[in-house]
Amino acid sequence: MHYTGTVWRPPYEASSLLIEATAGCTHHKCKFCTLYDDLPFKFRLSPLEDIEEDLKEAQRHCKLWGRKISRTFLVGANPFVLKASRLLEIASLIQKYFPTNQSIGCFARITDITIKSDEELAALREAGYDSITIGIETGDNDALTFMNKGYQAEDIIVQCRRFDHAGIRYNFFYLTGISGRGRGEKGQSIQQTSATSSIRR
Ligand code: SF4
Repeated sequence: MHYTGTVWRPPYEASSLLIEATAGCTHHKCKFCTLYDDLPFKFRLSPLEDIEEDLKEAQRHCKLWGRKISRTFLVGANPFVLKASRLLEIASLIQKYFPTNQSIGCFARITDITIKSDEELAALREAGYDSITIGIETGDNDALTFMNKGYQAEDIIVQCRRFDHAGIRYNFFYLTGISGRGRGEKGQSIQQTSATSSIRR
C-alpha cells in the first residue's frame, strides 16, 4: 500500500478500508499541530495509478480473508480539498473494486467545503461521500485566530449548513481547553448554533 508517513484516522474508522488519496496538509499552519511533520513535503496528492494499485492489493487481501468492505476512509489531512471531479474519480475506482462499499469518509477543512459548489457537494453525496470528519477545534474566534486555523466560527456554521443541505453528515473534532482557562463555554458555542450531525471530542 502507498502509505506515506504516519497514517492518521479517527477511532471510529477502525474497520474502514484506508486508502491514501493525499499526504500531508494543504494548510500546515495550525500552531498546535505536529501530525504531518514527519513528511518531507507539505502536501501531495496521490496519483490515480497508486490509488488503483492499492485498491487492487486490498481487494486481493479481502478475498483471501473473506472480508466485505462497506466503508472506505481516504487518508491524508484533508483529501476533501481535491477537486470534486477528482473525488468522483476516486469514488468510481472504489466502486469498481469494492461494489459492496456504501460510503466514503475523509478528513476535511472548512475551507475545502467553501471551494465546492452546492451541485458538486450533491454529486459527492450521491457518489457516497458521507460522515466527513472536520477538526474545527473550537467555536471561539479568538482561539481560531490565535491558532491560525484559517477560518472563523461563522465559516464553520455556513459551510456545515451547506453540508446539511447536500445531505452529507459530519463529525467534529474539538480541542477541549483550546480557549484557555475560564473560556470553555465560549469555545463550545458552535454546538448551540450549528446543526451538527454529531460531535466527538
Ligand atoms: S488543518 Fe489539520 S492537519 Fe493541517 S495543520 Fe491544521 S490541524 Fe494540522
